[in-house]
Amino acid sequence: LDRLTAGFKKTADKVGENLTGIVKEQALDTATLDDIEEALIASDLGPEASKRIREAIAARKFEQLDERGLRTILAEEIEKILAPVAKPLDVWGFPRPHVILVIGVNGSGKTTTIGKLGHWLKEQDYGVLLAAGDTFRAAAIEQLQIWGDRIGAPVIAGKEGGDAAGIVYDGVKQATAQGIDCLIVDTAGRLQNKTHLMEELSKVRRVLGRLNPEAPHDILLVLDATTGQNALNQIEVFKESAGVTGLIMTKLDGTARGGVLVAAAEKFGMPIHAIGVGEGAGDLRPFDPRAVARAIAG
Ligand code: GDP
Repeated sequence: LDRLTAGFKKTADKVGENLTGIVKEQALDTATLDDIEEALIASDLGPEASKRIREAIAARKFEQLDERGLRTILAEEIEKILAPVAKPLDVWGFPRPHVILVIGVNGSGKTTTIGKLGHWLKEQDYGVLLAAGDTFRAAAIEQLQIWGDRIGAPVIAGKEGGDAAGIVYDGVKQATAQGIDCLIVDTAGRLQNKTHLMEELSKVRRVLGRLNPEAPHDILLVLDATTGQNALNQIEVFKESAGVTGLIMTKLDGTARGGVLVAAAEKFGMPIHAIGVGEGAGDLRPFDPRAVARAIAG
């Protein structure tokens, strides 16, 4: 929790800065509410969530409201937005392996998230196999292998430029043969050639579906919080075309744009499974709406 609060410090500072001086020694009038709404938008919470919070604050009754009180109410209202989308990842998919496809644009933190997710699952005694389905970049294959070594999980990989669906097929076969619980699949994230990317993803999904109609059980979109609004655009792009089932937002440590998590929750209502608060193996946290809401509101 401390690491979480520390990670969100810049976001909380920004929220605080934006709220400073808004609440005066008076009842909440329209101008003050306008200022609050604007401050929330400026803090990356997005227009939908900011409006909703404004209305919730307006509906409350108080004699006087100081800044501390405002932050407390803000934390409560943010929590109400986050709680419905906070869903722990459920890896009970059957027959084994439970297959998790991880997608996202290059640089979003996809490979790191796979390593962290693998570590998190292994800590719960699940067997994990990583599949290097981003065959487009040799560096991506290498990086996944480094993560596999780090967390003690086997990695199935082919050659650069190889067939991603083939790797995934082999991954399911190996996991099945060895009784491994979870197969986590890395995928290519180049957006320059989106049609090709989507075709490749469809092929991977088809191959998986032939092996087990339930697979992939999860299609997780990894988002870089530091990109702010751009992260929201990516949800828009990927949710339908790639069949996204849930989100993981990374790099929430050290960015002032953590409010985008609230914007994503309100705008899309998609499950948010976990958040990344650092580059280490232990830095993927299950999404705890209360802790996050308090960390953002400061
Ligand atoms: P990919 O291209 O999507 O696979 O992205 P990578 O996993 O290679 O991550 C890109 C960069 O972001 C790397 O330098 C990672 O160490 C860093 N990164 C990933 N997740 C986090 C996070 O939660 N916090 C921080 N601070 N850095 C992260």
